[in-house]
Amino acid sequence: MKNSNPIIIFENIEKNFGSLKVLKGITGEIQSGEVVAVIGASGCGKSTLLRCFNRLERIDHGSLVVNGMELSQPNFQTQQLRQLRTQVGMVFQQFNLFPHLSVLENLTLAPRKVLGKTAKESAQIAGLYLEKVGLFDKASAYPEQLSGGQKQRVAIARSLCMNPQIMLFDEPTSALDPELVGEVLQVMQQLAAEGMTMVVVTHEMQFAKEVAHRVIFMDKGVVAEQGAAYEVITNPQSDRLRTFLSRLD
Ligand code: ADP
Ligand code: MG
Repeated sequence: MKNSNPIIIFENIEKNFGSLKVLKGITGEIQSGEVVAVIGASGCGKSTLLRCFNRLERIDHGSLVVNGMELSQPNFQTQQLRQLRTQVGMVFQQFNLFPHLSVLENLTLAPRKVLGKTAKESAQIAGLYLEKVGLFDKASAYPEQLSGGQKQRVAIARSLCMNPQIMLFDEPTSALDPELVGEVLQVMQQLAAEGMTMVVVTHEMQFAKEVAHRVIFMDKGVVAEQGAAYEVITNPQSDRLRTFLSRLD
């Protein structure tokens, strides 16, 4: 991993909800092609940080540059937001598929509406990504006919159809029955191996240790510890991280 091509640069970012200080000055970089796992206890600000990266949340202080765009500038344009949202894909815990659309329609909607692709072009791209996540035969199924693991793989394929530069995952396996977690992690592992830049909020320490390059451990709105994934997880330096990891076992 060469360490010289940051695609997300954040400096001293703060985010408040009313009087609640959620991000209290977070600084770091995500390199292009890097896989970073964000870990930490519930409520420490992991989702908020991720949501700032595609401007689902606006930061209150600091600087945040994603793929060359400074997101904190006050005159950030709708046009730039569109560009950002196509460049940064996001996968949520709850899949967020459109229930009234077939799998194929879920995948082709944004490429047609946002990228202006034809029905044929977008269906071709959708087919490639459905193949990639092992669900080519489910193109005409509806979300309710799929298992949780299949739904999440469709959600990942849907994001990939926009040809994003960065993929954000917010606890993508937390809503799944344990026996379905592996099939989703496997798809993510494959993406990582292909060089996708990924920021993954997860409680799957095995995945973080084996697939992520780096781990960021958050505690109460700050980065409490970070470093090479295997090191951080197998040899935590701070009491806070040791305690967090021991509670997961
Ligand atoms: P995590 O993902 O680590 O569990 P979150 O980033 O979701 O944590 O939340 C951090 C804190 O911010 C929590 O106390 C949560 O209740 C609060 N919070 C998150 N989103 C909002 C919001 N839209 N409005 C008010 N409070 C929020
Ligand atoms: Mg969260």
